[in-house]
Parts: sequence; structure tokens; C-alpha cells
Amino acid sequence: MSRRFPWVLAPVEWSEQAWFTRGVWHAKPLFSHHTADRTVLATKRQLRAMGKRPGGQDPCAFLYFRCRKAGKLVFANLYLIEKAKPVRPMTPARQAALDKAMAARRTCRGCGETGWAELPKAHRTCEACLAEAGLEPDSYLHDYLVGDPTLTADEHAALTAAIPRQVGVRLAA
Ligand SMILES: [Zn+2]
Repeated sequence: MSRRFPWVLAPVEWSEQAWFTRGVWHAKPLFSHHTADRTVLATKRQLRAMGKRPGGQDPCAFLYFRCRKAGKLVFANLYLIEKAKPVRPMTPARQAALDKAMAARRTCRGCGETGWAELPKAHRTCEACLAEAGLEPDSYLHDYLVGDPTLTADEHAALTAAIPRQVGVRLAA
């Protein structure tokens, strides 16, 4: 039986001793669950839990594991803990810059109003401005707007006939 990642005793760049690895992946040593020494190597999230960050270093190895939820193999970067740097503290200026960037996502480009919800990335326009600019005939906003219908019954029938049906449902004429 052949394994996809057979055990290999290989030299590693961060140690003088050879480590048991699961071969090479993208030109770096590959480790499986419980085989990478946690006192030497850590993932980005494990570093973060220690109050550290990779600090610009390239990953020195990779870790693979099977994610049950995703139903597939996942590969994670492994970093050397001794090369990691402490997380930079949050400063008022940094917090202000982040707040500004996040507020820009909630600010309408049309009217400049800042709401609670993030606006669509494509146009960053609020629904009121969209409605004022004129809606597409198939816009979902028609379902929520009360008032005069945008189309008469005849125009609506003509439009419905013009749109090719994607669902195999044909209304009785
Ligand atoms: Zn707006």
C-alpha cells in the first residue's frame, strides 16, 4: 500500500538534527498532526495565542490535516517561534485608522450617510439612492417598495414575455 505522504527522516533548516517529516510540499518540509514540535513550530493562530506574530518571516514548513467540516485536506503555514515578534499594541491612531476604513464600507457614495450595515462592495450605495436612481426591472427592491407601480399590467406582461425563462415553469396564458 502506498501512502500519499510517507514518513521521511529529513534534515531541516532550523535544527541540526534530522526530523521525521511527511516529505516535502512546495519545497518545504511537511508535517502531519502531532508531528511538528509545538515548542519550535507554530501556525499563525498559535503564534497569535502566544501574543506573537510571524513578523515577516516566510513559513519554514507546512502542516496538513483533514478538516472534517470542509471534508478535505488543509495545509497550514508553520513558523519558527524563535523568529516570531511580539504583536504590536493597538494605538489610538491605529484604532482611528481602522475605524475610518470600516466606516467607509458603511458609507453611501450617493448621499454620504453612514449606516450600520456594510453596503455592497460593487457600488457602496444605499437602497434609497438605488431606488432614486431608477431600479432595474428585476431588482429585488420592487418587492419592498410601496406606492405607484413602476409598470402597468400590460408593460409587465410584455416584460415577462421578453425575459427568457430559466426555470421550467410556464404560466398559463
Ligand atoms: Zn445613499
